[in-house]
Amino acid sequence: MSNVLPSGTSPASPPVPFIDLKAQYETIREDVQEAVQRVFESQAFVLGDEVSEFECDIAEYCDSREAIGCASGSDALLLSLMGLEIGEGDEVITSPFTFFATAGAICRTGAKPVFVDIRPDTYNIDTTQIEAAITEKTKAIMPVHLFGQCADMDPIWRIATHHGIPVIEDACQAIGATYNGRRAGVLGRTGCFSFFPTKNLGGAGDGGLITTDDAELAGRLRRLRVHGDLGGYSHQEMGFNSRLDALQAAVLRVKLAYLEDWSEARRANADLYREMFEDYDLLDAVTLPVEMPDRRHIYNQFTLRVHDGRRDELLQSMRQAGVGAMVYYPTPLHLQKCFQGLGYSAGEMPESERAGAEVLSLPIFAEITEAQQEQVVQGVASALGRSIIPKRSIVSFEMPAKKAA
Ligand SMILES: *Cc1c(COP(=O)(O)O)cnc(C)c1O
Repeated sequence: MSNVLPSGTSPASPPVPFIDLKAQYETIREDVQEAVQRVFESQAFVLGDEVSEFECDIAEYCDSREAIGCASGSDALLLSLMGLEIGEGDEVITSPFTFFATAGAICRTGAKPVFVDIRPDTYNIDTTQIEAAITEKTKAIMPVHLFGQCADMDPIWRIATHHGIPVIEDACQAIGATYNGRRAGVLGRTGCFSFFPTKNLGGAGDGGLITTDDAELAGRLRRLRVHGDLGGYSHQEMGFNSRLDALQAAVLRVKLAYLEDWSEARRANADLYREMFEDYDLLDAVTLPVEMPDRRHIYNQFTLRVHDGRRDELLQSMRQAGVGAMVYYPTPLHLQKCFQGLGYSAGEMPESERAGAEVLSLPIFAEITEAQQEQVVQGVASALGRSIIPKRSIVSFEMPAKKAA
């Protein structure tokens, strides 16, 4: 890459996608096709051996005793709540700065989501505010490991243990993330995962899974995902249909073998962004993601906080420049129209509201090239009216001037 002429500035630069699943597929095409072929030859499309094998693989990966595949991450949350007998009249504490499904699942059981604001550094639930939100109706705490970094679980366990309530991890964005060396999925009574195609482990459609060390609960979850069938069409309790497809399991088994490499690539890409933002002198204009020392961040998203109210302007310029960028999430859940009935108002969750107005996620997929990352950072620099020449080249420009003086 030339130091003198920034490579990303010519109008001829091809766009940088926010995520490039085709680039990933290129690297695994044959394995995936073989797996799909195997399922078609078997003509066994729902649950079955493929799903059982995948469940074993994930249990081993997360170091959980049990893993229960289901139809989506949303269903993993819903099944966990149902399995723990949470419903009408109950309250579940969670974060308002998350994907809709977190609170949606709570509502679908008839329970009420109780929002606790986030920390400004990690965007995860502010554990110092949980205790004040607990009432005698509180039946669970559902922390979200947002963007791929675990919530601060130690204080959450302390509070949950003190009140005798379970913790349900929304680990949908955090497969492979760790907290004090233990993987997401074994940090609560259940861990809920999504295999939506844009997650770090993404299927060929929807899919989800629950991890747990509780064998009895696991048995119950396996029943709930098939309408509560005890076997032989005997139903003691109501479940619903939330089975994982064999095709998804077969594809996910192939991809799981690459997950560690992909997560490491994402982490390396995050490090490179850090160098580049420094190199382009942008550290006063944005706040980069913070990695807590006791955690492994797996960067489902690389999310900046844009200073001085310039987020929307930046987003627009980047889109115009053909650089993928996304806002996760513009409106915190306590301000969503469908949750009006919960009685929250603007200003009540100040950090979530500020995050909603300031965050911007940049492309961080494993296959992104260094040149593409540089184009992204130049896009940020140019949109903010900053120099699109990195410091390292400015240094070489200045050398003759110094000699002359
Ligand atoms: C993706 C996601 C979900 C839901 O997963 P689906 O598989 O799309 O149903 C839930 N919570 C969070 C935080 C997510 O990112």
